[in-house]
Amino acid sequence: MIYDHIIVRYGELSLKGKNRHHFINRLKDTVKRKLKPYPEVTVQKAFDRMVIELNGQKHEPVIEKLQEIFGIQGLRLAVKCDLELETIQKTALEAMRDAGPDVKTFKVSTKRNYKQYPHDSQELNHLIGGYVLSNSEDISVDVHHPDVEIKVEIKPEAAYISCMDYPGAGGLPIGSAGKVMLMLSGGIDSPVAGYLAMKRGVRVEMVHFHSPPFTSERARQKVEDLTKVLTKFGGSIKMHVVPFTDVQKAIKKQIPDNYSMTVMRRYMLRITEEIAGRNDALAIATGESLGQVASQTLSSMNTINEVTNLPIIRPLITMDKIEIMDISRKIGTYDISIRPYEDCCTVFLPSAPKTKPNREKANRFEHHMEIDELVQQAVENTETVFFSEAKTRDDEEFSDLL
Ligand code: ATP
Ligand code: MG
Repeated sequence: MIYDHIIVRYGELSLKGKNRHHFINRLKDTVKRKLKPYPEVTVQKAFDRMVIELNGQKHEPVIEKLQEIFGIQGLRLAVKCDLELETIQKTALEAMRDAGPDVKTFKVSTKRNYKQYPHDSQELNHLIGGYVLSNSEDISVDVHHPDVEIKVEIKPEAAYISCMDYPGAGGLPIGSAGKVMLMLSGGIDSPVAGYLAMKRGVRVEMVHFHSPPFTSERARQKVEDLTKVLTKFGGSIKMHVVPFTDVQKAIKKQIPDNYSMTVMRRYMLRITEEIAGRNDALAIATGESLGQVASQTLSSMNTINEVTNLPIIRPLITMDKIEIMDISRKIGTYDISIRPYEDCCTVFLPSAPKTKPNREKANRFEHHMEIDELVQQAVENTETVFFSEAKTRDDEEFSDLL
């Protein structure tokens, strides 16, 4: 059977009252952008869902793309047919057969939005189910645990018939919730934090600190590759690469070893806050997880957090490393994150940083530093690069044809 439509079910955005229109438009923009490699495919939005017409395009790659989009709860592969009862019955039978030879039980679930239709949902369930039964062998109805559920929707313009559902990515449409600066290292955690922040609808820009010549081009490449993977979910992403060597040298010279990490993090936040201000971002996101390492104890976070008033979003705060690693594998960042590299933090840091720093001491140690100058200099010399959405093999094949 050739499925010719995909019905996109909105997630939580259906709860958003007045903003609903805005959310649906954001979602439609993303859907259209993601489906650009498939020019025959068309998208129509409605109040309660989006209907995608495949026009001959195979559904598998389209479903795959749609599953990367936040704000979509579920996808339903469907056949559109006219409202003649006989056509609906035949199409339902075909969909059922298409579901495979192992199917032994089924049920029909009809939803009738078009109230003028001469049969109600219950009657339709019986009329369609009866037809399928009398035209199949070795098959029975099971209303509780069917192998296949044939879903029939009766709309004024047509009927949609389906027995294939796919989960969506959930969350809220990208761009519906403002912008956040993500502090992106080359580790496992921060890309996952970025993914989860994007899931709630924010657009992210990356801030990465590097310390040449102590950190190499390879380390930077790694962060670029991670950003490219995240464009799959967030569309184009801006990345700010901050030269951090001078700050780190100053810390090395002026701060006692056991406070150098705390002070370094405070600089990272001050600089990120400044970059956020210049780029209209309203918050900062990090990959911190409570208690994971010395800089992520409550005392550390309390002392580090003192230097900024911006909200800090920490999507991983209560997660275990195992859970974080699972997500990183799922989203495709894990293999990049585990490439060996030297991080600016590890190059300069003492082997035993203080796990219980406090604000008072941090301020006392920093007192002699030219904080504003160091921050301004780092911000002025920051390099900004753009990454547009990562190309999949399909897209490349498509662009070859142009
Ligand atoms: P990750 O796996 O994300 O590197 P981590 O477990 O190594 O995290 P830390 O090194 O303590 O933890 O870093 C905590 C957070 O600080 C990171 O998740 C990231 O948000 C930020 N961070 C660390 N190093 C950098 C860097 N070089 N550039 C930008 N942000 C950084
Ligand atoms: Mg790290």
